[in-house]
Amino acid sequence: MIKKFIDKLLGKPAGGSKARFGRRTEVPASVHRIDPNLVDERAINVTRTLQQAGFEAYIVGGAVRDLLLGLRPKDFDVATDATPEQVKNLFRRAFIIGRRFRIVHVVYGRGREHEVIEVSTFRAYLDNAAAEQVKGNERTSKRQLEGIQHAVDSSGRVLRDNVWGPQDEDATRRDFTVNAMYYDPETQIVVDYHGGIQDAKKHTLRMIGDPATRYREDPVRIIRAVRFAAKLNPLGFKLESKTAKPLVEAATLLADVPQSRLFDEMLKLLQTGHALASIAQLKHLGLAKGIYPLLDVVVERADSDFVKAALADTDRRVGEGKPVAPSFLLACVLWADVRDGWAARLARKEHPYPALQDAIDEVFDARIGDVSGRGKLAADMREIWMMQPRFEKRVGATPFSLVEQARFRAGFDFLRLRADAQEVEDTLADWWQEFSMASDAEREDLVQAAKAEQQAKPRVRRAPRPEGEGAAPRAAKAVPEAMSEETAAEGDAPKKRRRRRRKPGGGEGSGSVE
Ligand code: ATP
Ligand code: MG
Repeated sequence: MIKKFIDKLLGKPAGGSKARFGRRTEVPASVHRIDPNLVDERAINVTRTLQQAGFEAYIVGGAVRDLLLGLRPKDFDVATDATPEQVKNLFRRAFIIGRRFRIVHVVYGRGREHEVIEVSTFRAYLDNAAAEQVKGNERTSKRQLEGIQHAVDSSGRVLRDNVWGPQDEDATRRDFTVNAMYYDPETQIVVDYHGGIQDAKKHTLRMIGDPATRYREDPVRIIRAVRFAAKLNPLGFKLESKTAKPLVEAATLLADVPQSRLFDEMLKLLQTGHALASIAQLKHLGLAKGIYPLLDVVVERADSDFVKAALADTDRRVGEGKPVAPSFLLACVLWADVRDGWAARLARKEHPYPALQDAIDEVFDARIGDVSGRGKLAADMREIWMMQPRFEKRVGATPFSLVEQARFRAGFDFLRLRADAQEVEDTLADWWQEFSMASDAEREDLVQAAKAEQQAKPRVRRAPRPEGEGAAPRAAKAVPEAMSEETAAEGDAPKKRRRRRRKPGGGEGSGSVE
């Protein structure tokens, strides 16, 4: 009935036109050769539970693509003909989330080890005209298409994204042919409507349907094209020419996409293990500028030693399965601005700490805009930056309290990158590394050694250079030189310091370790 209704909306001939939504092909294991050992147990549990309750259920999307390529997928999505409520009722820990795109999160395990399987209901493929019609016909649609009930203010897109439909339409509304296959772990059959198997074999990234239209429907697909081109490039994948051609022209459409979505997509480009490759693709495809202002900055600075090291480090960590924080990477990308704004204020003889605070505020205003929805991210970035002058101070109580700070590790990793980029001395980063791993007694010795070193050194104070030229290492040195150990101590939150009571022979930090 639903299918008939949608067919009517789309003006399809009775019986359905196979050409529009692709021809269903069932590909057996002997052909696709997916290794069942790469399939996550929990994803199998989800599909099995749904199937036993009488629903269709498949692993879908990027996971099938990766399985076909012999890669272990980093996450598993499941598609089903069950509605979100029906899915939720089948699992002990399942949560309906999202408004623009309602899905169910089925959660396994707890804490850091928890795993989420995303379950989405097959969606109808509605182009703009069809979506408008559904909208204008709300009474009928409420009865016939359950999903619409949840499209509270029924803007075209929200409505369209929550209209349930048959599997062939669900496949057609996906982006690339290699992202639009369904794998049933029970029968080990891959269901393919758009030649995804062939494209995977030919190493082709092909947009389903007319690429220009699909970019217009959802311009975020432009960024996804870049991401998959980067991710699959080492396997020899290329964007099919028809898929690549409209990219540059379509990029202007990104101006209408909500900033928060662009921000999230930017992070996916940068934090899924292919940051450097994505930047290379952006340049290669003529998209180095104009996708999103902050991404423009990343691309611009990707050749500087410091930002390149941060991007390479992020890729390496993701590759090793380690967590990465957006705050760290963005703190690296925007450090040049903070550093220059800070140096300019120091040159005006402002107090170092408030000067750094103000420089940070200015950078948030200029580069990130409204950070209200990103409170934690902004707070973490600020903390990493505010820690930097404190690293210059290796005497007194500061090192002991600094090393106990929750975000010490991030601040230290940042310092290490600065040292790699020759912005501070390697010996400073080495000292902190040693200090962070040392026993209390060893820490005292390290502080004594630093003190002796400081006394032995003739004090040279140079005026800080107000403007750094890009992230060139020479300019980068301006601030650290301005912040001698003594200056840093001065700037060490003067009010707080007055309240601190020093313990004889040890800092407050060392006391709190016990
Ligand atoms: P990754 O390996 O990075 O997770 P993915 O292909 O799984 O890649 P997701 O963002 O997890 O990407 O999306 C899951 C699937 O949902 C995609 O494979 C694709 O079929 C579909 N999809 C996601 N976003 C879009 C979009 N903007 N337009 C069309 N289909 C999309
Ligand atoms: Mg995915």
